[in-house]
Amino acid sequence: MEKYIDAFTNSFLGTLNWTYKSILFEVPWYTNYFWGLIVISLFVWSLEIIFPWRKNQSIFRKDFGLDAFYMFFNFFLFAIVISGFYKILEVAFIDLGITTKSLALIDFSKWPMWLQLLVFFVILDFVQWFTHILLHRFSFLWNFHKVHHSVKEMGFAAHLRYHWMENVLYKPLKTFGVMILGGFEPEQAYIVHFIAITIGHLNHANIKLSWGPLKYILNNPVMHLYHHALALPEGKYGVNFGISLSIWDFIFKTNYIPDSSGTIELGFPGDEKFPKDFLHQNMYGFKRNQK
Ligand SMILES: [Zn+2]
Ligand SMILES: [Zn+2]
Repeated sequence: MEKYIDAFTNSFLGTLNWTYKSILFEVPWYTNYFWGLIVISLFVWSLEIIFPWRKNQSIFRKDFGLDAFYMFFNFFLFAIVISGFYKILEVAFIDLGITTKSLALIDFSKWPMWLQLLVFFVILDFVQWFTHILLHRFSFLWNFHKVHHSVKEMGFAAHLRYHWMENVLYKPLKTFGVMILGGFEPEQAYIVHFIAITIGHLNHANIKLSWGPLKYILNNPVMHLYHHALALPEGKYGVNFGISLSIWDFIFKTNYIPDSSGTIELGFPGDEKFPKDFLHQNMYGFKRNQK
């Protein structure tokens, strides 16, 4: 028991300390997610201001403050708390004889770094695409994911408006992806994480960007806006589930981009009754009998 309490405390305090040091610029710059997130946000926000897609949308759009709060809550406050719980699970699995190396299908540690990073990026993106489908498919998961779909006016900061449970729900398949790849993240995985944050911000940004022919590979603001559309095609529980890559939606025929006006209504049926504040949005998914 003591071992578990120690693991929890060490991980919790370690993450807390790391975040504190990041704020003070005392970690290597390329691993500084705190300032990294701020720099990427300012960059994408500047693009929105200079090249707005929906010209009548204000710079501080609806719920900008709420989304900015979600961004820091999910990335830092929640990450600090959950790190202790993840550590307990890790120790428990090791006690059961299961480590992240138990499943290794590929030993890619000897591959060139760029290839390791590419494979890591693609596999992680695929498992997240799949998890995202599950969030739409099952109503108890959808009740948590509704937080992300409660955005009525789209802008970059909406990227990280999501229920903290999503972090927990994405974790098993993400860990599974890492396990397949030998149980470790490539040394320079931070490159992949920063690219994913940038693409995610762009996907939600008020910029008309579709990457030309690369749109079949890369997700983009036009495609992702339809993921947030209030009106879905008949009989579908969702479209365009892509995270960084759009390719999975094209392969599995879940793609849907009928136009690129940018003016469609966003949300989900019944969203007018969905709570508007952080606290109640976070309690919503835990209440019974939600429809
Ligand atoms: Zn979704
Ligand atoms: Zn989204």
